[in-house]
Amino acid sequence: MKFTEFGFSQEVIEGLEAMRFEKATPVQVATIPPIMNGKDMIACAQTGTGKTAAYLLPVLDRQVQSNSEGLNTLVLVPTRELAMQIDQQMEGFGYFLPITSIAVYGGNDADLWNRQKTALTKGANVIIATPGRLIQHLSMGYVKMDSLKHLILDEADRMLDMGFYEDIMQIVSYLPKKRQTLMFSATMPKKIRDMARELLAEFEEVNI
Ligand code: AMP
Repeated sequence: MKFTEFGFSQEVIEGLEAMRFEKATPVQVATIPPIMNGKDMIACAQTGTGKTAAYLLPVLDRQVQSNSEGLNTLVLVPTRELAMQIDQQMEGFGYFLPITSIAVYGGNDADLWNRQKTALTKGANVIIATPGRLIQHLSMGYVKMDSLKHLILDEADRMLDMGFYEDIMQIVSYLPKKRQTLMFSATMPKKIRDMARELLAEFEEVNI
């Protein structure tokens, strides 16, 4: 399926052309239309399948179409490396979009903390964060979550394996109840399904 067939806004199409994305991968074909329709979803997808674009593209498109302002999307990830990787894809797509993003992850560097604090205080439309570091910023009051529309848990199984369950629940307590929630996970053990039942409204399940 070609990306031009999803009904994306012109700005998103231009970003895709600039990145030379032409055909959607199977996980993208399965997830993009329901996400564009505002559905909650749990998707089983491995790294390398195009899962990042599978959630970023429809969520960015909804932001563009609704002229959304303030913080719109939070992506929670297990590691700093993944946060940086997603932020890079975000910048590629965002080149043509009026959307700002910031990656927030841990490290002992005071300079890193200050840069994150400044960027968060100024406000970004998309935050890609590891749970522990985001909680530190939240508890200091630097981030306002009131306008959030989309929550994405990427590599959810790995986040649970790394012991982030409590942190995730604490972050969710700051978020508006009315939101779209998407979970992406390489595996679907019972604890992931239990978490989906806790965090998602009526949801679709995608297995590729
Ligand atoms: P991911 O599975 O999200 O880590 O993506 C793996 C790589 O595939 C990333 O470098 C993406 O930029 C790239 N990619 C994802 N979807 C597509 C696509 N439809 N066409 C070409 N490259 C893609």
